[in-house]
Amino acid sequence: MKTHIDSIIETDGALILGAGIAGLFTALKLAPMPSIVLAGTRPGLSGSSAWAQGGIAAAMGEDDSWQSHARDTIVAGAGLCDPAVVNLVAQEAPARIEDLIAYGAPFDRNTDGSLALGREAAHSLPRIVHVKGDGAGAAISATLAARAAETACITLLEGFHAVELAMEKDRVTGIFARSGLGPDARLILFRARAVILATGGLGALYAVTTNPLESRGEGLGMAARAGALVADPEFVQFHPTAIAVGRDPAPLATEALRGEGSVLVNGAGERFMAALHKDAELAPRDVVARAIHRQIVSGEKVFLDCRDAIGAEFPHHFPTVYAACMSAGIDPVRQLIPVAPAAHYHMGGIASDVLGRSSLPGLWVVGECASTGLHGANRLASNSLLEGLIFGARVADDVRGQLAAGAPRGLPPAPPRFASPAPPHVLREAMSRDVALERNAQGLRAALGVIGRLETVSSEPALLNMTAAAKLVTAAALAREESRGGHWRTDYPETQKPATRTFMTLADAERIAATDVQPRHASK
Ligand SMILES: Cc1cc2nc3c(=O)[nH]c(=O)nc-3n(C[C@H](O)[C@H](O)[C@H](O)COP(=O)(O)OP(=O)(O)OC[C@H]3O[C@@H](n4cnc5c(N)ncnc54)[C@H](O)[C@@H]3O)c2cc1C
Repeated sequence: MKTHIDSIIETDGALILGAGIAGLFTALKLAPMPSIVLAGTRPGLSGSSAWAQGGIAAAMGEDDSWQSHARDTIVAGAGLCDPAVVNLVAQEAPARIEDLIAYGAPFDRNTDGSLALGREAAHSLPRIVHVKGDGAGAAISATLAARAAETACITLLEGFHAVELAMEKDRVTGIFARSGLGPDARLILFRARAVILATGGLGALYAVTTNPLESRGEGLGMAARAGALVADPEFVQFHPTAIAVGRDPAPLATEALRGEGSVLVNGAGERFMAALHKDAELAPRDVVARAIHRQIVSGEKVFLDCRDAIGAEFPHHFPTVYAACMSAGIDPVRQLIPVAPAAHYHMGGIASDVLGRSSLPGLWVVGECASTGLHGANRLASNSLLEGLIFGARVADDVRGQLAAGAPRGLPPAPPRFASPAPPHVLREAMSRDVALERNAQGLRAALGVIGRLETVSSEPALLNMTAAAKLVTAAALAREESRGGHWRTDYPETQKPATRTFMTLADAERIAATDVQPRHASK
């Protein structure tokens, strides 16, 4: 592939792959250092960021404290959070919200002008800043994209499909990206002194997901194929309440609906969460998602009942969810919303230190594609946009400290738009069947077999990036012989002590796939 490069673009500044909230915020924080932000889709509408509904967690309320936010994060993380990372994130959160306000993010406010704070599952008190009820992601993405577009040192390039990291010796020096399709496709090498991956998650590797189809784990796969250390890849969070109307991706019914008192009922109209957890519908996500999954596996249907708790306020308070329901012929003011769990968020990712550095020199990682140790085995609601902001600022500080910059040279013409292709059906089916909410050795081995067969029939780098990401999730899930947070093994239901994070390379995953040997586990 590298012998057919059509053009080379160089910058003395930074190259950021991804124009979700993590990528755009990093670019703004890097300014006045020049950066190229390269993305598949249009900044402001790109990635999971634009679809986020609930908002961002930060201890902004008078009764709140960063210690309380940190405590809730650690409890949700089921023993695998890195406390130092949790503390720094909880402490820096209010400052990053102030940054967003300064960029123009239109957070909802109370009549006295203070920030309106919402409550979500497993938070001890209301601490979610939000926009127009359930429109935080769209509004913040649009705000950051507008600021980036008017910032002269930021070059936004959409419509590129990155397929491989460029390396010189052991250092990452750029990214190979395609523009156009078929015979018109061009391969461009973007070279930079600092390369930052902000490529989001991998939900679209699953057949049922809330993520856009561009969330295919390709950044994780690219970094892993270049030798980067990966952390906790087995931990995938399933959102309990995707709206089950057969759409791909599945629209989301935000957790805030349950925060407002909506309840889950089965086909007989019976609530089932109160008997399973003291916090009932507001139990941690993995608990609620598994409970719904078990109802469905036992032949029940599950519904979210918002009629008493929200009722006529629905269209005004939750316009995004309301529109999704109405377009499927469901009026949530009067009717039950059918729900099912869907792949939603990847806690694992490219291993990162507190400055966002990966294990590869020249490569920084930020946002959902990174694993900083914040989320542990189960992400606390609304901590993911926050992580992108906190580490976006930290990566920018670190990169600025390392480089003295100049502008990019020889920018390419804008490529035509392309639609994000879904990963192969057989891969998505295998991930949803065998690597989802409940896992066992037999199913995980079967999934590794599907992944291996796909790899033998194609040398297409985009596919190999996806299969690398899928293999890391599956091999680490096979090696973790316990149940914890988002990872539930029906053949190993106990939680082991001490809690250990997974750190592995793609070569480790290949070995597990071949021989079932254990990955390196580092004690916390
Ligand atoms: C429906 C939904 C609701 C959510 N609600 C919340 C919430 O309320 N609060 C919260 O904190 N979190 C929420 N999340 C999670 C949160 O939105 C994501 O974790 C976060 O937006 C990830 O941001 P990011 O910038 O890391 O990645 P993304 O926003 O996913 O952006 C990834 C970027 O990388 C680009 N990219 C990826 N691969 C390639 C490639 N090969 N070539 C070129 N470009 C590429 C994409 O085009 C995109 O620009 C929600 C997620 C979903 C799906």
